[in-house]
Amino acid sequence: MSFQALGLHSQLVDTVTALGFQTPTPVQQQAIPEALAGHDIMAGAQTGTGKTAAFALPVLQRLLDTPEKDLKAIAESANAKPQIRALVLTPTRELAQQVFDSIAAYSAQTTIKTAVAYGGTSMKAQVSAIRAGADILVATPGRLLDHAYVGTVDLANVEFLVLDEADRMLDMGFIDDIKRIMKRMKTARQTLFFSATFSKQVKKLAYDILDEPKLIEVTPSNSTAVTVEQMVYPVDKHRKRELLSYLIGSRNWQQVLVFTKTKQGTDELAKELGLDGIKAVSINGDKSQGARQRALNDFKEGKVRVLVATDVAARGLDIEQLEYVVNFDMPFKAEDYVHRIGRTGRAGQTGHAISLMSLDEEWALKAIEDLLDTRLPQQWLEGYEPDPTIKPPENRPRGRSAEKRKAKAKHKIHKNRGRHVRK
Ligand code: ADP
Ligand code: MG
Repeated sequence: MSFQALGLHSQLVDTVTALGFQTPTPVQQQAIPEALAGHDIMAGAQTGTGKTAAFALPVLQRLLDTPEKDLKAIAESANAKPQIRALVLTPTRELAQQVFDSIAAYSAQTTIKTAVAYGGTSMKAQVSAIRAGADILVATPGRLLDHAYVGTVDLANVEFLVLDEADRMLDMGFIDDIKRIMKRMKTARQTLFFSATFSKQVKKLAYDILDEPKLIEVTPSNSTAVTVEQMVYPVDKHRKRELLSYLIGSRNWQQVLVFTKTKQGTDELAKELGLDGIKAVSINGDKSQGARQRALNDFKEGKVRVLVATDVAARGLDIEQLEYVVNFDMPFKAEDYVHRIGRTGRAGQTGHAISLMSLDEEWALKAIEDLLDTRLPQQWLEGYEPDPTIKPPENRPRGRSAEKRKAKAKHKIHKNRGRHVRK
């Protein structure tokens, strides 16, 4: 199977070949012909499966093939706003930048112009790039709306919409922003929808915005990559840091991505690892875009050995050849486990996903095992066996959801009351 056989023009085929892509990945093989034929797509594919080219190449080809609508007339009208033809939404700044870089590379030999817009940096440079006549805009939902509100960009004539990592966007609370964005689109469009997992909420969004989509499933959703070796080490909470340093040092792990559950946790752990002589940086939502990028670069270039991150901060990071992912804290949501360990074992290499689990986190392991429908291997490490007399209270986010339920119930009562009064 070649890229040519998928129906792509030689211009695009030559470009990706020069980038070292010989054979399309499974998601590319399935998505590209359907997208070229004009169908909506709902694709289940994890990180590292080559999704970017799967949507970018057909969108580029269709942009090149289909003449622009009469945008000139629109542009010459009184309150002309820049019109974009294709919109790619991503959950995070890092992912937006990555997707933008990829599209720029794929379209280097064409006349197509692409711009990128995300928060945390000034709008000015983004505005000029859009005004310079961008055909494609890659954006995070919040910043895109900022631009739409001030009139930098008009979404009415968007012909192609891509949602990359839709599940992430919903996890991050972007559902209302996405709905606001959808309302601004007026013309019939082709929508390509990608998600690693398909919860009820994700499916609902897909059904709301897709039109007779072709379903593409590359690896069964909610399953982990087969090339990842998983291991759970039960350990007392207060000894996790010590165990982590021991594992990294004694087994000579390089390039380790470590997940903690809180932003503060990332900074503290990176500092403590440093005291143990292990170079570590942290990345979290409180840091500036520049600081996040620097940390990521240092990690990618091997200047530091460990990158400590929260789930949110790690979304969409493209780190190649990552061998070790460590769950320093077990994830609150089982789906996050799938995403976390999707960072390792990329492109057919073997990866290792190590979970440090304290007794109060056993519920989280159970949730993961239920989701994956499998048992994860566990091992007690000599010298780090958990002390069975310490049984801390379960750390389950039960209180929070009970509170949420109550708040919701209250809200309902209020709403009903309001309706009653209005009558
Ligand atoms: P995803 O969005 O699914 O996480 P990406 O689109 O970021 O995946 O691709 C992951 C990596 O694989 C990137 O480094 C990309 O350049 C590379 N890649 C994508 N498609 C191919 C291909 N057909 N052949 C070789 N490498 C590819
Ligand atoms: Mg991607």
